[in-house]
Amino acid sequence: MDCIFCKIANKEIPSAIVYEDEDVIAFNDLNPEAPVHILVIPKKHIASLNDASEEDQQLLGKIMLTIQKIASEQGIAEDGYRVVTNCGEQGGQTVMHLHFHLLGGREMLWPAG
Ligand code: 5GP
Ligand code: ZN
Repeated sequence: MDCIFCKIANKEIPSAIVYEDEDVIAFNDLNPEAPVHILVIPKKHIASLNDASEEDQQLLGKIMLTIQKIASEQGIAEDGYRVVTNCGEQGGQTVMHLHFHLLGGREMLWPAG
């Protein structure tokens, strides 16, 4: 499949990996918007949140707890951070493989643009 994040998960494309297990991989965003900007993705190809189903329930929960762990490891848990998934065109999704942005290390603005 011609998916850039599948290729990153399969190590066909290099990335700065900060966490990996059998289901989940996390790597630094190529164009960081904050001092900490990590993308956390399932290794399984799911195009977007719209494409997740009942069978992905455990995986999605695991991703959330993995984000919590990474935030702690990155030293941003106490100060706070933001987790974002952009879904579809109006959501601003540009890579069609489900991913969660973990952003931290600076004050976040709200509402998001
Ligand atoms: P989206 O706009 O789909 O929510 O987020 C896609 C993110 O993937 C963007 O923040 C972009 O910088 C990042 N990105 C796109 N291509 C690559 C890549 O090849 N490597 C890495 N590490 N990040 C990428
Ligand atoms: Zn993919």
